[in-house]
Amino acid sequence: MSVPIRQQLSVAKYLLQQKFKGNKRYPLVLMLEPLFRCNLACAGCGKIDYPDEILNRRLSIDECLASVDECGAPIVSIAGGEPLLHKELPQIVEGIIQRKKYVYLCTNALLLKKRIDDYKPSPYLTFSIHLDGNRERHDASVCQKGVFDRAAEAVEMAISRGFRVTINCTLFQGENAEEIAAFLDYCKKLGVEGTTIAPGFSYEHAPAQDIFIKMRDSKELFRKVFKLGRGRKWKLNHSSLYLDFLAGNQGYNCTPWGNPTRNIFGWQKPCYLLVDEGYAPSFKALMEETPWQKYGNSKNPKCANCMAHCGYEASAVEDAVKNPLKAAWVALFGPRTDGPMAPEPVPEYDADTVGAKTRPAIRIHAVD
Ligand code: SF4
Ligand code: SF4
Repeated sequence: MSVPIRQQLSVAKYLLQQKFKGNKRYPLVLMLEPLFRCNLACAGCGKIDYPDEILNRRLSIDECLASVDECGAPIVSIAGGEPLLHKELPQIVEGIIQRKKYVYLCTNALLLKKRIDDYKPSPYLTFSIHLDGNRERHDASVCQKGVFDRAAEAVEMAISRGFRVTINCTLFQGENAEEIAAFLDYCKKLGVEGTTIAPGFSYEHAPAQDIFIKMRDSKELFRKVFKLGRGRKWKLNHSSLYLDFLAGNQGYNCTPWGNPTRNIFGWQKPCYLLVDEGYAPSFKALMEETPWQKYGNSKNPKCANCMAHCGYEASAVEDAVKNPLKAAWVALFGPRTDGPMAPEPVPEYDADTVGAKTRPAIRIHAVD
């Protein structure tokens, strides 16, 4: 894992506190979406399909900071929409840093050069830049030529100014393991702290639906990528067991409460990927009222192909706390890339969910 030791220790301390208190469900990363407006219109986006009156709404500084306090997660991922379009974002980021929470500011980077002076380098602040692969693939993914070059330039500029920078990459249909491996080499060469990589989630409201990868195909793709990665020293911004899960070696249940989402509608049930399940008025209500047992690969057809970090990174971290030797082994030697995979979840949809629309595959907006 490429995360600095200071951050790892502070997250470990938080996890131990939760265990000590006997908390069974607790948040690890708050997904804060202060607006849905974006300056791009990607084909697979599940966030920008709203009328103007919704796209014009913003969470205020007070609403954002109250949500951070209410939730208590040690990490806050600010996504959207495009967060840099929010005029009060610098104050929101500053307020979160003052609370000693780690902020991942997720951006497509088109405005980063213009807005960089609004921010100061800090161990608590990371710019997480959306890059879905090499130039050709990224520009196709965001439906606009030239975006890759502008984002790559912004990455170099932010690193040269002393900021922590990571890359967030979402994979879609038609990905090729060699291309992904070359992209991860490129990320390493750029000098970013780490790269987040996951298969896309098929948003029900995304304009394109034929671009998402099925779960089995995702696992096979990740096995090929990890095999190619041996000795190439990529910095992947995930826990070792989440990578093992991507390679099909772990069969986790989803823990969406690990990544609660707050946006202009309230607290989103159960995670930021499912948009039609309703909202809770407070974090407490979200934790108490959400029918968590109805979500996850085997539980809900809408979740069938999901391998997103918002559902499974917290499951992997929980497993690592219980099985540190297993986690250390995978961290040292990498995920297994051949042999049998962990069994696929067997659907057990109940009467309420079986009528839900079944979709062929999945996409993640992740943290862009
Ligand atoms: S996927 Fe991200 S960058 Fe693309 S339109 Fe949606 S919010 Fe904007
Ligand atoms: S499986 Fe994925 S989509 Fe379903 S609740 Fe979990 S994180 Fe959300």
